[in-house]
Amino acid sequence: MTQIPQAARTIAPVFQTVKEAEKWAVENKLADSVDYSKLPVGIANEINSALADFYTEYGVTLGKIGYRQNMDLYDNIMEVKRYKEGVIRGGELVGYRDMADLRINPVFFNNPNAKAILSRSYESGWAYSENIHDLITHEFGHIRTNTDDSRFLAGPGNIKTLSRYGQSSNSEAIAELFLKRRKFGDANLTPEEAQFLAQYTR
Ligand SMILES: [Zn+2]
Repeated sequence: MTQIPQAARTIAPVFQTVKEAEKWAVENKLADSVDYSKLPVGIANEINSALADFYTEYGVTLGKIGYRQNMDLYDNIMEVKRYKEGVIRGGELVGYRDMADLRINPVFFNNPNAKAILSRSYESGWAYSENIHDLITHEFGHIRTNTDDSRFLAGPGNIKTLSRYGQSSNSEAIAELFLKRRKFGDANLTPEEAQFLAQYTR
């Protein structure tokens, strides 16, 4: 991954319409395609702002930002789908690159209580996410995960000092730890947490 110099930091403007927010996100390489049509514009602006921070840091352009069918209020709030995309040069397949789509739950974000639900789940110790920036950070934890051992990832979380969501599987342990470190700092990780995070993220 290439590091982008501080001077080139991408900062998302606040738009009045989702169309403008989508156009800006594509033009600024946050993703190849963006569909914010089912979201309030304020949410689209906040997602752009968080993604811009990660674009600045890692130079990651997502594939599609959009939705999965039939998401409901009790489904994931956001999720990433990772896959390999063929790289074609001169008409020939020369390799594969890691890609990730971001899927957003439109039912959740159109609920007038969405922000209150997030803060309550944070305060109760369920998860470390209490706002959109945190949710995107958690999803980047999945994107930066360096193993695709599905049995390990789906297995019960090895780290018992995390949020309850972080204990639900090793996949969520990695994502919650990635967020925990960025939110609270290295000094707030136990040696076991720091070791686990270093081992399973790029
Ligand atoms: Zn997750």
